[in-house]
Amino acid sequence: MLKIYSTLFEVLGPQGWWPHPTRFGKIVGALLAPAVKWGNVVRAIDNLEKAGIDNFPALRELDVKLLEEYIRPTIYYRKKAQALKAMANKEELLEIKGSLLLREEFLSLPNVGRETADSLLLYAWDYPIMVVDAYTKRILYRLGYLPQEKIDYDLVQQLIESKLPKDLSTYQEYHALLVRLGELYCKKSPLCEDCPLNKDCQKIHLKLVEG
Ligand code: SF4
Repeated sequence: MLKIYSTLFEVLGPQGWWPHPTRFGKIVGALLAPAVKWGNVVRAIDNLEKAGIDNFPALRELDVKLLEEYIRPTIYYRKKAQALKAMANKEELLEIKGSLLLREEFLSLPNVGRETADSLLLYAWDYPIMVVDAYTKRILYRLGYLPQEKIDYDLVQQLIESKLPKDLSTYQEYHALLVRLGELYCKKSPLCEDCPLNKDCQKIHLKLVEG
């Protein structure tokens, strides 16, 4: 895992995540991000900010129909509006330090799953926990670390965390680098020739063996 990290960091450079400067933007971004291209998340946050919704009290007061309109560029925007409202109504969570107990609080919010809860913890609460997304599973499966791509979230998280030092910036950077690799090379049809991990990847080895 560390070797993957150093190779990706060397080739792709620091990703500087989370890609929004304010804590409000990080939290809203994490809640809107699942299954959505980042460009659409940015459009939704821009819509909110242009309407003066750049803090939780304003979000709490906002009519839910209007909120849905502002975040319409993101898929499942109705469900995501519920998650945003629930977070705005639990503003006291902002003052709590990151922990596994706080994770449970996030998971009790409507339409918040493990990936979103861990993104909130890692990027908005600075708590070292590994985020697992579809790119992570795909890449680790193709590299030969996982027996299959469709696999339980917690198993993948435990595997990565067991092989890395529990360090906030390493976790923040590692997840961002895997997402970048997935976007650039490890797509559904992978571009293995130019991928920085191709020397150690089972997928390309298998392909070569299969001829
Ligand atoms: S070599 Fe190909 S399959 Fe392996 S990680 Fe890179 S892009 Fe994905």
